[in-house]
Amino acid sequence: MIDEKFLGLKKSVLEEIRGQFVHVEEVSEINTLKVLEAMRELKISDAHFKTSTGYAYGDIGREKLDELFARVFKAEAALVRTQFVSGTHALATVLFGILRPNDEMISLTGEPYDTMQTVIGHAHDSRGSLKEFGIGYREVPIKNNKVDFDEIKNAVTSKTKLALIQRSRGYSMREPLTIDDVEKICATVKKINPACVTFVDNCYGEFVEAREPVEVGADIVAGSLIKNIGGGLAPTGGYIVGKKNLVELASYRLTAPGMGNELGASLGAPRLLYQGLFVAPHVTAQAIKAAIFAAGIFSQLGYNTRPLPTEIRGDIIQAIELKSADKLIKFCRAIQNYSPVDSFAVPEAWDMPGYEDKVIMAAGTFVQGASIELSADGPLRAPYAVYLQGGLTFEHAAIAILAAARLVTED
Ligand SMILES: *Cc1c(COP(=O)(O)O)cnc(C)c1O
Repeated sequence: MIDEKFLGLKKSVLEEIRGQFVHVEEVSEINTLKVLEAMRELKISDAHFKTSTGYAYGDIGREKLDELFARVFKAEAALVRTQFVSGTHALATVLFGILRPNDEMISLTGEPYDTMQTVIGHAHDSRGSLKEFGIGYREVPIKNNKVDFDEIKNAVTSKTKLALIQRSRGYSMREPLTIDDVEKICATVKKINPACVTFVDNCYGEFVEAREPVEVGADIVAGSLIKNIGGGLAPTGGYIVGKKNLVELASYRLTAPGMGNELGASLGAPRLLYQGLFVAPHVTAQAIKAAIFAAGIFSQLGYNTRPLPTEIRGDIIQAIELKSADKLIKFCRAIQNYSPVDSFAVPEAWDMPGYEDKVIMAAGTFVQGASIELSADGPLRAPYAVYLQGGLTFEHAAIAILAAARLVTED
């Protein structure tokens, strides 16, 4: 099935990236220890995995899980809920929870992720957006695929209420932030305006490095449970971690003023959230190895990859410029075809809610749309970059990536 040419390619790429793999394993060990220590200190036990219903007052599993996330992220408080329908929902909850009419927010990392633009409402009209509530918005554009540190110094003012910092590249070719970058940005903001809330969109960044944003100066952080931090086991949900008063404001937006974090039934999910967090450092490492491997294969085949196989990583995403719509579609179809679930489905480009261009997506996943599982997607616009992410096991990812390489390079 896999011909000689690709076996040779696989071998030489694995040789080339061996050093990267050693680094990924070291980070995974540090993060595994971090999670394990938190679980031991908080005395996690079977009692916390019991499901709750109705209002779920006094649900000890829910309360303990918040404590556990807070500890892992070195934060004062956390809000971890399956009631968040996605990462965007958790991020929007932070923005709507903290910002008030006439406040001004600024994105320091260029255009935010597509679905966040709909939440903010300034790039294009969208009903119910922050703009409709009179929230001002500005952004510091990305310069040469990097954050423009000089411009950040000019753009943040004493009036800026909140600064949005997106760690991952999202659907763009810009570089993801390293945790050192996040530290530098937070320090710059605080120097100009200590009261400005530093808010990190942590999607795809969790456990990629040994430290997380709160440790380097972020006030509040949010992300999705069906990406890195859910370890492939969380069935749905999102999380928020950060300063106690800010997480509390977000909790009033998730539920209702006065209710906050004291309600919310777990409906059968608690063990999966705990167990998912426990395996998340390892699963994230599998996904990063898959990304490095894909970069190695496709750069040897002559494609532009971001990052390069040997570059430092800030997230689990691998971008590969495939240069044509046809190749982008073929790539996604191969990934789908070599998935454990829905391998027979044939992805088509479609107008996805919250996205501006047509998007094609391959996700043969156990949890619908979970991008910690091997998945590939990309908007149908130049340079026809495919964004590959996830992989619960490196073995599976390597098989699928080689299948994609075969299909994309055939005439
Ligand atoms: C995934 C992601 C989000 C949230 O997307 P959902 O699909 O709603 O979970 C936000 N920002 C970035 C950078 C992301 O990668």
